[in-house]
Amino acid sequence: MSMKDYQAIYGIIGNPLGHSLSPLMHNAAFKELGVDAVYKAFPLEADDVQDFFKKLKEKACPIFGLNVTVPYKEVVLEYVDALAPLAEKIGAVNTIVVTQDRRLIGYNTDAPGFLAHLTELQFNLTDKRVAILGAGGSARAILAILCLIPERPQSIRIYNRTSSRVDQLIADLQSRIDLSIVETVEHVEDLNIELADLLINTTSMGLKEEDPCLVEESFFHPDMLVYDLIYNPPETLLLKMAKERGTQTSNGLGMLYYQGVLSLQHWANLQLDDRVKEKMWEAIHKRTAK
Ligand code: NDP
Repeated sequence: MSMKDYQAIYGIIGNPLGHSLSPLMHNAAFKELGVDAVYKAFPLEADDVQDFFKKLKEKACPIFGLNVTVPYKEVVLEYVDALAPLAEKIGAVNTIVVTQDRRLIGYNTDAPGFLAHLTELQFNLTDKRVAILGAGGSARAILAILCLIPERPQSIRIYNRTSSRVDQLIADLQSRIDLSIVETVEHVEDLNIELADLLINTTSMGLKEEDPCLVEESFFHPDMLVYDLIYNPPETLLLKMAKERGTQTSNGLGMLYYQGVLSLQHWANLQLDDRVKEKMWEAIHKRTAK
């Protein structure tokens, strides 16, 4: 990360941002790297987005990198000057690099972050049967990357409460990606979770402790991985029920961590060493551990 004669600012835009762990994670990294930089939360109302990006382009603006979260991951496509190929395919940006001449380059690190965590969990996707709950922003990144990688699964079934949303997602993605392994289903039961090797929850069901589980307990089995993108609470009812049936489970903290590492690597244009990565992991793990 180049030294500047003023403090460089990085941050996250989204709404709401109250529970974001990204400031903790990136400020821990800056401290370990010994750079004069700070990572801030920028909660933005929809009406303020255009003005924010206008200022971001100004020469004197001290912001050199951003993360983007709900509900702006697709909105920002119109504000960036260039898209990395993967972000273009996915149609969503969660990381923006601001170059020295203040060009904005959009990346997607959610998708490779998710894959990196699956690799850490030693889950090999080749020929696997995948079931996805949800069709929002995070499902877009996950569905796209699963169809793009050479080691793509055998099949992907996807269910969303609002069926028009999943139809829109498929219609948009299939203009750029081969979705021949994907099938949309009308009911959770049709996800065939009993036969799946991997179930991914990309919905926000489970964020609140009192949220019910979208899946019937009898569907879980020991030969599968149940992955919930939610990391706070660290164990949703979905994960708890799956675990009780002897299923391997994971929450989404690893995905958050890997996307953060990849974002910082884009901003700094370097590979982070293990020491810095450990500090990033500790910062978010400490905050969410029970
Ligand atoms: P979106 O708002 O884009 O999508 C929300 C999804 O949840 C939609 O599919 C929506 O369905 C579904 N949903 C909401 N309420 C219900 C309900 N009562 N019953 C059934 N389905 C419901 O959010 P994101 O995709 O961006 O994020 C989803 C979750 O993933 C969040 O909890 C977020 O914290 C987590 N996440 C974690 C990441 C990580 O790094 N670990 C990264 C990104 C997200 P419908 O269309 O019918 O409304």
